[in-house]
Amino acid sequence: MENETAVKNRVVVVGAGFGGIRAALLLAKYDMQVTLIDKYNYHLFQPLLYQVATAGLSVDDIAYPIRAIFRNKKNVDFRLAEVTGVDFDNKSIQMNTGTIDYDYLVIAAGGMTNYFGMQSVQKNSFGMKTLDESVVIRNHILYMFELAAHEKDADKRRALLTFVIVGGGPTGVESAGALAELIYYVLVNEYHNLNFKEVRIMLVEASDKLLAAMPESLREATVETLIRKHVEVRMCVQVTDYDGERLTLKGGEIIPTYTVVWAAGARAIDLIDKLDVEQASMRRAVVNENLQLPNRPEVFVIGDSAHFMQDERPLPMVAPVAMQQADVAAKNVRNLLRGKELKKFVYKDVGNMATIGRNAAVVHMGNIKIKGFVAWAIWSFVHILRLINFRNRAVVFSKWMWDYLVYERVVRLITRK
Ligand SMILES: Cc1cc2nc3c(=O)[nH]c(=O)nc-3n(C[C@H](O)[C@H](O)[C@H](O)COP(=O)(O)OP(=O)(O)OC[C@H]3O[C@@H](n4cnc5c(N)ncnc54)[C@H](O)[C@@H]3O)c2cc1C
Repeated sequence: MENETAVKNRVVVVGAGFGGIRAALLLAKYDMQVTLIDKYNYHLFQPLLYQVATAGLSVDDIAYPIRAIFRNKKNVDFRLAEVTGVDFDNKSIQMNTGTIDYDYLVIAAGGMTNYFGMQSVQKNSFGMKTLDESVVIRNHILYMFELAAHEKDADKRRALLTFVIVGGGPTGVESAGALAELIYYVLVNEYHNLNFKEVRIMLVEASDKLLAAMPESLREATVETLIRKHVEVRMCVQVTDYDGERLTLKGGEIIPTYTVVWAAGARAIDLIDKLDVEQASMRRAVVNENLQLPNRPEVFVIGDSAHFMQDERPLPMVAPVAMQQADVAAKNVRNLLRGKELKKFVYKDVGNMATIGRNAAVVHMGNIKIKGFVAWAIWSFVHILRLINFRNRAVVFSKWMWDYLVYERVVRLITRK
C-alpha cells in the first residue's frame, strides 16, 4: 500500500483519453487533489490513427505527453500504470505498480477492438486502436508492396496486393479512402514494375449501409466517392474466418489476402469485465442519470466504458460523448463534496462527419447535410482544432497542406517488418 495522506478530496481518474483528460483538467480547477492514471504516458487522438496507418502522419503528430498537459497544474499527479482492479468497498485501486486509495473515482478507461468472439480474425487481422497497431499496419502495407514488386507468382502477387478493410463505419470508410490515395497517388509513381490493376482495396460491411448514422444522400455520396477512388465496396457481407492468407465470407467466398484491417466494432475495455459492475451493450458499465455506478455514489464511469441510455438507445462510443460526460462527472464530484444536488447528464448531439480523402467528406449536423470540398474543409478544420496542443495542430496542418499540394505521403518508412 502506498503512503497516502488523509485528505478528503482525493479524486482518481483512470484513463487519459478524451474523457479522462477533460475531467482531470476540470477537477484540477476545482482544487481537488487529482491523480490521473494511464498505461501510456501520452494522450492519443484516436480519430487520426488511420492517417498514421496510411503513412500520412507520424506518431508524435497525434499523441502528446500527459505530463506536459498538466505542467501548470500542481494538484494533478500522473501515474504511469495499468489499473487491474478496483476494491469499491475499501475505495482502493489495484495497479500493476501497487495500490492507491480514493475518495472519488472517475473511470474513463475507454474501449477496445471488438472481434465478436471470432478468434481467427482476432489473431490474424490488424486492429486499429493504439499507436503501435497503426504503425504495424503502416509497416505491413508498405512491406506488401516491397514483396509484390519482386514476386513472380501472379496469384501470390495479387494476394499481396489485396487489402481488405472490414467495417463500414467512419474508421473503415476513412481508412479505405486514405489507403486508396496512398496507393493511387503516391505508390503508383514509385513501383515501376508493378501493374496497379492488380491492386484490390475492399471495404466489407455486414449491414446494407456505410456510415449508418448518416442520412441516405450522404451515404450514397460516400459509396460513389469510394468507388471513384477504386475501392470495391461490398455491403451485406459477413466475415466468418481469416487464417492470415485466406479471408472467408459467409456463403463460402474466399478472398486470398495478407492484409485484413478490422474496423468493425468496439467494446468497453476489458478492465470493466474485471470490476463488480453491471454491464450492458458492448460490455459497458451501466451508469445512472448522474453517471454514477448504481449503489456507488462516489464512482463515476464515462466515455466508451460507460453504458448510458438516452431516447431509449445507448449512446454511441464517440469522443463528444466522452467529453460531455467528463464535464458532468467532474461537476458532480464537486457537487458531492459540497453536498449539492447532482447534475443529470443529457447528451447534445454535435453531428457526424467522415472524410473519404482529398476534397471529399460528408458532414451531417442537425438539418445540415454537406458533401464534397466544403465538407472536407469543415472536417479538416474541426480535426485540427480538436488536437490537444498547438504544436500538433501546426504540424498536422503543414503536413496536410504539403500532401495536398504535392500528392505526397511523407511517412513511408518501414521501421519493422
Ligand atoms: C481508429 C478510431 C477512430 C475514431 N474516430 C472517431 C471520430 O472520428 N470521431 C469520434 O467522435 N470518435 C472517434 N473514435 C472514438 C473515440 O476515439 C472514442 O469514443 C474516445 O476516445 C472515447 O474516449 P474515452 O475517454 O472514453 O476513452 P479513450 O480516449 O480511449 O481513453 C481511454 C484511456 O484509458 C487508458 N486505459 C485503458 N485501460 C487502462 C488501464 N487498465 N489502466 C490504465 N489506463 C488505461 C488508455 O490508455 C487511454 O488513454 C475513434 C476511435 C478509433 C479507435
